[in-house]
Amino acid sequence: MLAVDIIAKKRDGLELTGEELKFFVEGYTRGNIPDYQASAWCMAVLLRGMTHAEATALTLHMARSGDMLDLHGIAPFVVDKHSTGGVGDKTTLVVAPLVACHDLPVGKMSGRGLGFTGGTIDKLESIRGFKVSLSTEEFMDMLAKHGIALSGQSADLAPADGKFYALRDVTATVDSMPLIAASIMSKKIASGADGIVLDVKVGRGAFMKTEAEAEELANLMVEIGRGVGRKVAAVIADMNQPLGQAVGNALEVKEAIDTLHGAGPTDFRDHCLTVAGKMIELAGKAPNLAAAQTMLARSLDNGTAWAKFVEWITAQGGNQAVLDNPDLLPQAPLVETVPAPQRGFIAAIDAIEVGQTAVMLGGGRAKKGDPIDYGVGIIHHAKVGDEVTQGDPLLTIHANSADTLAAARKRLLAAIGWSETAVMPSPHLRKIIG
Ligand code: URA
Repeated sequence: MLAVDIIAKKRDGLELTGEELKFFVEGYTRGNIPDYQASAWCMAVLLRGMTHAEATALTLHMARSGDMLDLHGIAPFVVDKHSTGGVGDKTTLVVAPLVACHDLPVGKMSGRGLGFTGGTIDKLESIRGFKVSLSTEEFMDMLAKHGIALSGQSADLAPADGKFYALRDVTATVDSMPLIAASIMSKKIASGADGIVLDVKVGRGAFMKTEAEAEELANLMVEIGRGVGRKVAAVIADMNQPLGQAVGNALEVKEAIDTLHGAGPTDFRDHCLTVAGKMIELAGKAPNLAAAQTMLARSLDNGTAWAKFVEWITAQGGNQAVLDNPDLLPQAPLVETVPAPQRGFIAAIDAIEVGQTAVMLGGGRAKKGDPIDYGVGIIHHAKVGDEVTQGDPLLTIHANSADTLAAARKRLLAAIGWSETAVMPSPHLRKIIG
């Protein structure tokens, strides 16, 4: 078998066999297939798509590229969640401790920023000392002792995804439905969770732009997960405007900390309660979503979720002083609040523009392995539907140079749509599957 023949077959729109997919995944993971051939193959998949059978086989070969964890020696039911990627999406930082504080272990493998979307691992790295890469043994140990463990891509778990993920990020091959499904589900299957909640984003700041696409992706991932005996549900949520107010690594950690103290933006808090609620429901710890949400809201407001967050972050090496005083998080040297240039109602905040601006400020990567600036980002003081008066604070930009600050100001102002009359924001929660 030759890699070039497999690339040509996909380029011509033909269905790959399980053996061909195994050969390609194994070859790339072991370094026998170079980045340039893998890039061409990813582009062929993006342009030609895959059948469900191909996507399922690809997922399973990627999952089997490393260890496949069995967590049943630690707990009878472990849950996990995963987002398809959005702007301002710091959901894991709140949901993981919120669920774990209800004696439901959360074992999660997260990623770095991808394209214009942020990644949980980058956000957590802005907390001094936090160890983002756990060996299989350390992951299991954290889960057994603290009921919560989160690791970035390691050489042990789904290493194939680690390689493809970094490659796709810089070859414009992220927004392919089968590649996203295989990337997410290979990690979820390898890391051993019994219950998985998929947070599927839809809209301008998501890889899936329409509800039909988001639903198709959700159904594909649910089918793959259930096919290997996992309990899976999907939440389809709006990503036309950023989630919450903060976009940028350290700024998002601060917003997550506020939310764990019972405050934080309402759209973000509600979203966390939905995702966490589905995890609790899947595990049979509440009779329905509403009951789960009531129980979880209490834990956000009474400090239980916050205590679990502190336990988790410090157990993984994070500095407690930073959690107690988020002003110790990385800070950008230049901070400017931009006033509203007019009065009116906010009709749109183009999430993809905001995500790309955050990358341009230095909060994301232009190419594989680039360093990032944890302190830069954007705070939105007004969201879609809000009425503002000319001169009101509209957004605050955190930048590391006058040039990027000026460029960000221009882009962000252009990303905001205005209306003279009241605007009803589109519903955040679109659909729940399973
Ligand atoms: N999240 C992932 O883990 N992989 C993708 O491809 C997209 C989002």
